[in-house]
Amino acid sequence: MKIAKIETHRMAVPLIKPFKTALRTVKTAETLVVKITCDNGIVGWGEAPPTVVITGDSMSSIESAVKEVLAPFLFKQDFSNYEEMFQGISASCIGNSSAKAAVDMALYDCLSQSCQLPLYQFLGGHKKELETDFTVSVNGPEEMGEDAVSYVQQGFDVLKVKVGKDHVQTDIDRVREIRARVGDDIKIRLDANQGWTAKEAVAIIRKMEDLDLQIELVEQPVKAWDIVGLKQVTDQVDTLIMADESVFSPKQALEVVKNRSADLINIKLMKAGGIYQAQMINQLAEISGMECMVGSMIETKIGITAAAHFAASKKNITRFDFDAPLMMAKEVVEGGIMYAGRKIFLPQGPGLGITNVDIKGGVSLGS
Ligand SMILES: [Mg+2]
Repeated sequence: MKIAKIETHRMAVPLIKPFKTALRTVKTAETLVVKITCDNGIVGWGEAPPTVVITGDSMSSIESAVKEVLAPFLFKQDFSNYEEMFQGISASCIGNSSAKAAVDMALYDCLSQSCQLPLYQFLGGHKKELETDFTVSVNGPEEMGEDAVSYVQQGFDVLKVKVGKDHVQTDIDRVREIRARVGDDIKIRLDANQGWTAKEAVAIIRKMEDLDLQIELVEQPVKAWDIVGLKQVTDQVDTLIMADESVFSPKQALEVVKNRSADLINIKLMKAGGIYQAQMINQLAEISGMECMVGSMIETKIGITAAAHFAASKKNITRFDFDAPLMMAKEVVEGGIMYAGRKIFLPQGPGLGITNVDIKGGVSLGS
C-alpha cells in the first residue's frame, strides 16, 4: 500500500464559550485538516490546530511543512515498512510537531484500516471506553464557580480548572469558590499553564493543601523551560505535579523521568509529533513508574478521536482530557468517538472510524 494523494484544508469551527487559559483565549477553533488517500482507496484523516504560543506552529507553517517537507518524503514510502515511514517523519525536520502529528494520525488511520482493526486495538486495545474531564476556563472566581456547577450538572465529575493568569490570591479564591460550590465528591485538577514561578507555585499549592481543597494534581505550574523549577515544586509539595508544556519529545520525557522533575506527564499528539513518538513517551514513563494523561489542544473530533484511540490502547494512560469537541458550536466530523456525558466510546470499525469530514460545514479559511 502506498500513498496516492495528500490533501490539506484550512477549517474553523466556532466555540460555544471562549476557551481561556493563562496563555491564550480561543473563540474559534482553527485547524488544518489532512486527508491521505492510498492507492487501494483507503482514506485516512488527520488534523493540526495552530497553537503558536505553545508549539510555535502557525496555520501557514503547518500547511507548508505538510506540503513541502512531509508529503514529498511520504510519496516514496510503502506502508509495509512503516517503521521507516514514522522514523522518516521524525527526522524530516526540526520541530513542526503539529504538522507531524496531523500526518502521523492519518497514516495510523490508513494502517489500522488495512489491518481491519479499530486503531485502539491495532495499538494494544487495552480499553474500549474512557471518561473525560471538563475544563473550566480562567475567569473571575464567581463566573468559574457558576461554570463548574453547570458542568457538574451535565454529568462531569472531574473538573480541570485553569489558573495562573493574574494574581496568585485570585487563584486561591477561584479554587475555593469552585470547591465550595461543587462539594467534596468532584475531583478537581488544576492547570496553571506556566503561569507561576516555582516559589509562587510552592506557596499557592501549600496554601491549598492547608485549606484542604483536595486538589488531585497541578499541571505545568512553571515555564516550559524551567525544568529545575518544576522539580523544586514537585519536591516541595504533597500534591501531584504533572508536566505538560515541559514535555514535547521523548528526549524531554527522559529528562523528566530520570530526574523525577514531575510525578506525571500529560502527552498530547500535537507536542509529541503524533502517535509513534507518543508511544515512546508513555513507555519511558511506564518503566519509571509514572502514569500519563492524554490531553489535546482545541481540536475537532478528528484529533481527539486519534488521541482517544492512543489513550485507550495503553494501560499506563490513566487520565483523559478530551473535552474539546464538546466545546464546539457545530459538528463537522461524521463518525469517530461517541460521547455520552463524561463517557467516551471508541468506534469499533477499522481505523479511526471517521467516515467523513464536512469541510464545507466549518468556516473555510483562505490561504
Ligand atoms: Mg495543560
